[in-house]
Amino acid sequence: MNQEELQSLCIEAGESKFRGGQLFEWMYRHGISSFDSMSNVNKSFREHLNEHFIIQTLAVENQFPSKEDKSVKILFRTHDGHFIETVSMVDKNRHTVCLSSQVGCALDCHFCATGKMGLKRNLSTGEIVDQLIYVRESIDQSITNVVFMGMGEPFHNYDNVLNASDIFHSPKGFNLASTRITISTVGLLPQINQFIKEKRRYKLAISLNASNDKVRSEIMPINKKWSIVDLVNAGKEYSNQKKRLIMFEYVLLKGINDSEEDALELARLLQGIPCKINLIPYNEIEGKYQRPDESTITKFSEILHNYRDEYRVLVRWSKGQDIAAGCGQLAGQNG
Ligand code: SF4
Repeated sequence: MNQEELQSLCIEAGESKFRGGQLFEWMYRHGISSFDSMSNVNKSFREHLNEHFIIQTLAVENQFPSKEDKSVKILFRTHDGHFIETVSMVDKNRHTVCLSSQVGCALDCHFCATGKMGLKRNLSTGEIVDQLIYVRESIDQSITNVVFMGMGEPFHNYDNVLNASDIFHSPKGFNLASTRITISTVGLLPQINQFIKEKRRYKLAISLNASNDKVRSEIMPINKKWSIVDLVNAGKEYSNQKKRLIMFEYVLLKGINDSEEDALELARLLQGIPCKINLIPYNEIEGKYQRPDESTITKFSEILHNYRDEYRVLVRWSKGQDIAAGCGQLAGQNG
């Protein structure tokens, strides 16, 4: 529940609206796991809360620390027996948490383990927030960034993802700046347009993964619905309206989208758009796709750099590959 919902809950129970703010702070700033810990809330109201509400929605099923870096993958069980995964990645002073927004995903991008599960259901706002509360309580480093790049397409669960983001952003909640919260979409055009109209200024990433419709439609069925040019234009609109750089993500797949021509075509496609480009060398799962070799990745990145030096191009090596926690590898498995 957000602050307004908690205030209504309090008023309905005969308490003051002010109590709603107290509940919000106890739950999200302090991350308490029991209503009985709310020391400034009267006993009879705490009993009412215990009788009618739950404060934790997820149970921890397992935890997988990486041996190669400081990332940890956490496997949660939902109340109805589904599994979702969250990844904590610590790199010097930066602690990024990659959150899931759905159990599975309906979009079936062919290179992604989550897509192979199909969609089971959306996560509630509470289930999204609980992932972050658990990481904050269990990993001894302040959270600096949140990315919705785990299981699911965040814009298929638009309201809950934005509600959770508001709780992360609130000074009475997690107090994360809006620049520290990134929502990544494969490009649901109506929701991107809706997001552009919002007052909220969270960062947006569009997962492009190709430089033309032919290749994109082969690896991402959603591309048959909205063309790559429409998506890129929506990204441009986001940058212009929000005065914030749109991020385009590009998973590099050997022999599919990693040639020098692909890089040039991508550079031309993004010409004139204030953006960042994240190149993600593919993290292999079972299936036909492979990661390009390092020289191909370097060449691809150089072509983009050289085309126009205002592109900010970053090669993002995923963390936690030994625990299948890299981009596109999450599948809710206990092992
Ligand atoms: S890449 Fe994202 S949108 Fe595509 S199938 Fe995987 S989780 Fe879904």
